[in-house]
Amino acid sequence: MRKTRTTAVSIATILLALAALIVYALGGRSRPAPPPTTPKPLTPAPAPAPTPESKAPVEAARQPSRPLLKFKTPAPSIIPAGARPARVQRVTDGDTIVLEDGRRVRYIGIDSPERNDPLYEQGKRFNESLVLNRPVYLELDVQQTDPYDRLLAYVYVRLEDGPELCVNAEILRQGWARLYTFPPNVKHVETFGLCQKEAIDERRGMWKNYVFDSETYFVGTRNGRAYHRPDCRMIAGVRPETLIKYADARQALEAHKSPCRACKP
Ligand SMILES: [Zn+2]
Repeated sequence: MRKTRTTAVSIATILLALAALIVYALGGRSRPAPPPTTPKPLTPAPAPAPTPESKAPVEAARQPSRPLLKFKTPAPSIIPAGARPARVQRVTDGDTIVLEDGRRVRYIGIDSPERNDPLYEQGKRFNESLVLNRPVYLELDVQQTDPYDRLLAYVYVRLEDGPELCVNAEILRQGWARLYTFPPNVKHVETFGLCQKEAIDERRGMWKNYVFDSETYFVGTRNGRAYHRPDCRMIAGVRPETLIKYADARQALEAHKSPCRACKP
């Protein structure tokens, strides 16, 4: 009997406390909390230093929409009608993902820094900010897989506030990858070239401190993907008359050549 009454009193106390809390909460709230998808004000207050681990996913989910709306150059930014929907399980780096069904996807036309490169983490995180927790849409080119049995694709997403983006192009545009053409998969090479040019012109990402005239000239070959320093061993056996000369690295990059991995121009 006494036990029952004690319980009843306890419940009443809890209910009272709850009611008081609700009244306090309603009275103390001067304006409604913004819905989760509302963008932050344009002049953000200095945020308290976040711990990278805990803050990253939230930031990642909304960060991409703002900077990416500044399109200076066109990009294949409409999800093509035949693109195949998929979900991303995890991001390997700036140009590779793993789908939920376990398939690995290599982004066509770009090459992001490798694991030991200081820019590897940024490229990976930017990629994550675009493709994690969103449906992605895959567009294929001529070859469906590469020699490592990875699916070769252009990856598209639709951001929460509207725009549709080609992820390959945006990674290029932010300077987290360089153009890496791989014939015959060159459907978007021209617009990708413009995205990289924008990154270079704006000195974004890997181009921030890049020295374009570290040599008096650079060389490449008609069918080779790379441009080289004049004394690179990779072109030592090439007949001089077949070499293409570039006045500086920018010229080579605009001709869709990428820096040689051996001589690292
Ligand atoms: Zn080289």
